[in-house]
Amino acid sequence: MPYLTAPEALADLLPDEPRFRSNQLEHWLYRTPVLDASLMTNLPGHIRERIGEALWPFSVEVDQTADGGKTRKWLFRTGDGASIETVLMGYPRRTTLCISSQAGCAMGCSFCATGQFGFERHLRAGEIVAQVAYAAASLRAAPITGVPPRVTNVVFMGMGEPLANPGGVFEAIRRMIDVMGISARAITVSTVGHVPGIYRLADTPWSVNLAVSLHAADDALRTRLVPLNERYDIGAVVEAASHYFAVKGRRISLEWALIAGTNDTEDQARKLAAIARGLAAHINVIALNPTPLSADRPPDAATIRSFMRTLRDEGANATLRDTRGQDIDAACGQLRIRSAASEQRERAQEADHATDEG
Ligand code: SF4
Repeated sequence: MPYLTAPEALADLLPDEPRFRSNQLEHWLYRTPVLDASLMTNLPGHIRERIGEALWPFSVEVDQTADGGKTRKWLFRTGDGASIETVLMGYPRRTTLCISSQAGCAMGCSFCATGQFGFERHLRAGEIVAQVAYAAASLRAAPITGVPPRVTNVVFMGMGEPLANPGGVFEAIRRMIDVMGISARAITVSTVGHVPGIYRLADTPWSVNLAVSLHAADDALRTRLVPLNERYDIGAVVEAASHYFAVKGRRISLEWALIAGTNDTEDQARKLAAIARGLAAHINVIALNPTPLSADRPPDAATIRSFMRTLRDEGANATLRDTRGQDIDAACGQLRIRSAASEQRERAQEADHATDEG
C-alpha cells in the first residue's frame, strides 16, 4: 500500500530496485498522481504491476457529480470497511477539496449526519493524503471546464474532528506541504473546538489556516448543538484561537451553520459579531444542509439576509457561503447515510426474498 508508507520509506517497497526508482514512485504518488499505476510511464512493467495491485488504500464505492460537473463527491471504502467521504468543489480560480480525517466522528454534533453515526476509527496519514492524490489524479484524467486542473486548496471539513486525530492529520499535512508542494496557506484545519488540539497545531511548524466551527455564541445553546462545548466552553475555545492567531499570524475563521429557529436570531448574530471582532476573525455563514436523520432545517431567505445584515451592522466581517452539491448529499456524512440507508434497504429486500423463497 504505497500511500500507507511514508514517502521517505518508499524504498522499502522496492528492496531490489535502484534508489532512483523510489524517487520516481514518489513523483507519481505525490507530485503527479495518476489513477492507475499503468500510467507511471518511467517505471518498468514489473514495478507498475506490483504497485498497481494496491495503489489506493481504498476502493471507490460512490462517485457523483453535481452543479454542472463542478462539484464531485466520492465515498471510499477501506479494506477493513471504514468509509471516507471526499468532496471536490471547483470554482473559476480555485479547486477546493474537502477531506475526512476520521471514519465517523465521536463529537456528536446534533445537526450533523456524521455525528449521528458515531465513531468508527481515526484515518491514517496515508488514507488522508490519498484523498488529495485521488482527487488530483481524477482532475488530471478528466479536467472540469472553467476550473483549475489541480487541487489548489484543502479543507479538513469532511468527516471527523481533525484535531482529535493529530497523529494522522499532522503527518498528512506534512506530506501535503513538504512532498506534494501544497502551500500551508492553502490548507485549512476546521475544528469544533478541540482546545488541546488547537494548542498542539500552534506548536507545529506549519502556518495552516484554522477554522473554528462555533455555531452558537453562548454556552447553553452551544452545548446543545456541540456537546464538546461542555468540556471546552466558548471562552476556552476563543482563548485557544486567539493564541493560534498570535503565534501563526493567520486570520481565524468562524464557521456558522445557520439553523432555523435555533441560532438564526438577532441576539446570536450580535454575540457572534462581538466574538469575531475580539478575535479579528472572519465569519463564514452557511445555511444548514438538512440531513435525513434530524429535524433541523435552514432558515428562509429573509431570515438569512437579516442575520447577515446584523453581523455587518455590528462591524463583523462575514460572508454567506453557497451550499454546494445538495442534490448529491454533499454535506458532511450525508453520502454515507444514503449509502447505509440503501444497504439497509438491500438487506431488507434480501431478507424478504429469502422469506419468499423459504
Ligand atoms: S460537525 Fe464535525 S465535529 Fe461535529 S459531529 Fe459532524 S463531523 Fe464531527
